[in-house]
Amino acid sequence: MCHRKSCSVSLPTVNLLDTSLISGDWGWLTYPSHGWDAINEMDEYFTPIHTYQVCNVMSPSQNNWLRTNWIPREGARRIYIEIKFTLRDCNSMPGVLGTCKETFNLYYYEVDRDLGRSTIWENQYVKIDTIAADESFTGVDLGVRRLKLNTEVRGVGPLTRRGFYLAFQDIGACIAVVSVRVYYKRCQGVARGLAVFTDVVTGADSSSLVEVRGQCVDHAEERDTPKMYCSAEGEWLVPIGRCVCSAGFQEHRDACIACEVGYYKPTAGDQQCEKCPLHSHSETRAALTCPCDANYYRATSDPPATPCTRPPTAPINVISSVNGTSVSLEWGSPVDSGGRGDVIYNVSCQRCAQDWSQCADCSTGVRFIPQQMGLTDTLVTVLNLAAHANYTFRIHSLNGVSRLSNEPPQFTTANITTNQAAPSQVLAIRQENASQNSVTLLWQEPDQPNGVILEYDIKYYEKENELQSYSTVKSKNTSAKVSGLKPGTRYVFQVRARTSAGCGRFSQSVEIQTGKAVPLRYDTMTIIWICLALVIGLITFLAIVICRKRHCGYSKAFQDSDEEKMHYQNGHVSFPEARFYIDPHTYEDPCQAVHEFAREIEASRIKIEKIIGSGEFGEVCYGRMKLPGKRDVPVALKTLKAGYSEKQRRDFLSEASIMAQFDHPNVIRLEGVVTRSKPVMIITEYMENGSLDSFLRRHDGQFTIIQLVGLLRGIAAGMTYLADLGFVHRDLAARNILVNSNLVCKVSDFGLSRVLEDDPDAAYTTSGGKIPIRWTAPEAIAYRKFSSASDVWSYGVVMWEVMSYGERPYWNLTNRDVIKSVEEGYRLPSPMGCPVALHTLMLDCWQKDRNERPKFCQIVTVLDKLIRNPENLKSMGTILNSPLMNRTNPDFSTCRSVGDWLDTIKMGRYKDHFAVGGYYTLGHVMGMNQQDIQRLGITLMGHQKKIMTSVQMMRVQVLNNSVPSVHV
Ligand code: AMP
Repeated sequence: MCHRKSCSVSLPTVNLLDTSLISGDWGWLTYPSHGWDAINEMDEYFTPIHTYQVCNVMSPSQNNWLRTNWIPREGARRIYIEIKFTLRDCNSMPGVLGTCKETFNLYYYEVDRDLGRSTIWENQYVKIDTIAADESFTGVDLGVRRLKLNTEVRGVGPLTRRGFYLAFQDIGACIAVVSVRVYYKRCQGVARGLAVFTDVVTGADSSSLVEVRGQCVDHAEERDTPKMYCSAEGEWLVPIGRCVCSAGFQEHRDACIACEVGYYKPTAGDQQCEKCPLHSHSETRAALTCPCDANYYRATSDPPATPCTRPPTAPINVISSVNGTSVSLEWGSPVDSGGRGDVIYNVSCQRCAQDWSQCADCSTGVRFIPQQMGLTDTLVTVLNLAAHANYTFRIHSLNGVSRLSNEPPQFTTANITTNQAAPSQVLAIRQENASQNSVTLLWQEPDQPNGVILEYDIKYYEKENELQSYSTVKSKNTSAKVSGLKPGTRYVFQVRARTSAGCGRFSQSVEIQTGKAVPLRYDTMTIIWICLALVIGLITFLAIVICRKRHCGYSKAFQDSDEEKMHYQNGHVSFPEARFYIDPHTYEDPCQAVHEFAREIEASRIKIEKIIGSGEFGEVCYGRMKLPGKRDVPVALKTLKAGYSEKQRRDFLSEASIMAQFDHPNVIRLEGVVTRSKPVMIITEYMENGSLDSFLRRHDGQFTIIQLVGLLRGIAAGMTYLADLGFVHRDLAARNILVNSNLVCKVSDFGLSRVLEDDPDAAYTTSGGKIPIRWTAPEAIAYRKFSSASDVWSYGVVMWEVMSYGERPYWNLTNRDVIKSVEEGYRLPSPMGCPVALHTLMLDCWQKDRNERPKFCQIVTVLDKLIRNPENLKSMGTILNSPLMNRTNPDFSTCRSVGDWLDTIKMGRYKDHFAVGGYYTLGHVMGMNQQDIQRLGITLMGHQKKIMTSVQMMRVQVLNNSVPSVHV
């Protein structure tokens, strides 16, 4: 067993001379002639032996030499001489005292060649040692030879010549040299640490080590140069360095053997061969790598030990949501990532013709957020698309080996059509001309008009009076002359474009100074003329004012010319349609206000027929009105109950003052007021179907989606009109919409004070006022920021009421919970069977940032488009197991029977139909299709849809295990 320092192998020696193997005379040289003698004897086993003997113990000054033959060195650097001899004890011999010796001397002489029989001079020998016997013998027993054999070994080195002689010098002893062996030592060849060390002769002296370099075995390579040291004794010492098996080979019993087929070893080292990674193989032995199977690849950066991979499959479930001219695309990761974790996505964009026949690249000008290529997340937003355009987006999935494959990356496609969008901002406005009182401006059409530009709004104000309100002029083309300006004044101008989709953003401001007024020099005549003109003007003005006062009363009803009703912002508007509604509360005397706008009707012209409801101030009646020269018409009569206070009368009539200012087919029309007799009445057109909420509840499920959208369209049109007049409703809700016999919806209920104080759905807020929480935008609840944008929020809730046939928004949640959940981002889910497009529109109306909500005119456009393209209404809300959905998509896990279920979806009236049809369990029901439902005799489309949707949802819930099978 080997140790670090040495290894106990048998220590080999190489003989240069061994006399025991010589039979007969050794043939050595002796001189002088009476000295050493060659004598043949028998040993104790009676084997003949050859010796050299001398025994001149009686004679003084002996100097007898015995010299070996020339011994070739054979590469030995240190030799060992083993002498076996006998030596007689001087004491055992009488009379030899003084001349008898008990030692002899050993010499050597190096010489390159055999000198034959010629003698060597004494002084040429080099003495090795004087040798004495360990044991000597005393005489010869008769019959038995008693030899005491001594063995002495001496070493000598370094030797340098090709050979040498040994010489024994006797100086008067009685010796017999029985045998001589001359040898040297070596370290025997060995394999260690995958290196082979060959035989090596030991060093020249007893302490020297011979450094030996090993050679790596076949298929191995040096890791650290393999070395060992051969000691003078022929032992291997201090192994250093080693070899390791090359790539493709592994160590096996001091050798390197090839990796088997199906295994590989990529680099030289101690490691064993490994099995080929997944999707790779090796066809020969000693493989360094495993090439990939067909259609699998390894990226350059992939270590050979990783499995081979392939390009990913296409992304899945792409969902697009279009918002005006932008679209958000979201998709799912590929089903098969190809075995890699580095999947990325590239998005390509094509714009297509209206019929999708031809498509062309559309990447220029379009913005991708966060980027178009190398997306790591599964979503991208694409901005700056054209309005009303078809686009095809391809989402390609790639990974680290996609470019190694000949196949193009797989992709999934999203086809979208952009919506209406407001025009982009007007850039660069230039001043073409500026006089003392006017400025002419020029600008360019916006980069993206997104439709036909109907007109431009030019907004301006005096720079010095920035905080005051501004004025607006309109222009049909890209220039406008703004007149009526003050001389020498710096004005700020901004321009924006308007299309049917709404208004774009105002341009950057430009400042323009009007020219300074030139002081005129007047003569006396001119001054007189000017004064005269002023006096005449003043008299004419007073006459007009007096005349108007006299005509105050019903003659100033809402049919009066627009001009008289107009109030202009900041005194200057160039277009008559830019009129604003006037808050009657700004009048000191509301009675004056009501007669300013509404006509007085004589009570005798009215015939009250029945009570149809109760309003806040008194009963609401149905009646007929007959005006002179006209047919009698049905009217609704809101009465002010007897015993009213002055304030109540004021508030009651203020609604008429407001209503009187409106003239639109979707806003309730005021016929007039009765104030001069009792009861005080407000007379409006009669709406046969009453308020929208109860109307819908009465006709649950009976309308087509298009009919419902038609209702919504009317409300949006009415609200557009009101918003354009600057009127903020504050209590838009289905209960405040009236429906006539033609299913035309009209916005009603304009009693401002009533809105906040007396609506049954209004609740006190922290700021003190009363607000219909469920319909009101968060900013209006939080800090009373009522605006047309907050009306848009309410409109979204009305949409929801309509689509759910009068369901109460947020069901039985408390007002506090409604506020909290809306604040936390919760929005009413899509009502059952509500098309995605409509719910999306609702969600738009419920944007937290009111500036992000659509304008009423945009809502009208969207609804018009849906009515024109009803196929866009086909896609129903996805039935997801989302907590948001649970309230409109009831949890059927509580339903024990078909009856329960029908009650849950408010279709309990059809229990008998189901029973007669043989549908006794929910399990039966879940197998139903639309025809089955029709066959039960359920004729109303809306009800069929509601039931079918519910059946589908139940299936989804069963799939998700949320309906226990026992109920099914
Ligand atoms: P109001 O005080 O305006 O909320 O009216 C109370 C109820 O009277 C409403 O809910 C309607 O049912 C009914 N009503 C009000 N105005 C009319 C009208 N112009 N035509 C028919 N019914 C009306």
